Amino acid sequence: MTKIQDMLHNQLPSVNEVPLGGVIPSNGNSQTYETGSWRTQRPIFVAENCTNCYICWLHCPDNSILIEDSKVVGIDASHCKGCGICSAECPTKPAKRAMSMAQGGFYQPSETFAKSTL
Ligand code: SF4
Ligand code: SF4
Repeated sequence: MTKIQDMLHNQLPSVNEVPLGGVIPSNGNSQTYETGSWRTQRPIFVAENCTNCYICWLHCPDNSILIEDSKVVGIDASHCKGCGICSAECPTKPAKRAMSMAQGGFYQPSETFAKSTL
């Protein structure tokens, strides 16, 4: 061991001094964490332009595309983190976009496709 390694080694805490971190005490708990407040952008869904191809649903990493009766109906605003993947993957043409991104994380009251108040 070199002198520098020896110095660093002496400064490191022992295993009993390192605080616990990243502990997940139980499984299936992600639904209880509302992570939508992290957004800086929000997906905008236009139902009349949607072909219900489910590509957005397949790609969303947070399972935030809501489907009812085999149709996309909106966004789970409590869990959507605004990554933009749904919009990037949506195959609809620019003139008739079904999914696009808007600046700002919080939904307006008129954006009723977003479920929750975030
Ligand atoms: S922005 Fe990201 S997290 Fe939100 S619905 Fe689209 S793919 Fe899912
Ligand atoms: S990818 Fe676009 S067209 Fe397909 S279901 Fe999602 S919003 Fe609708």
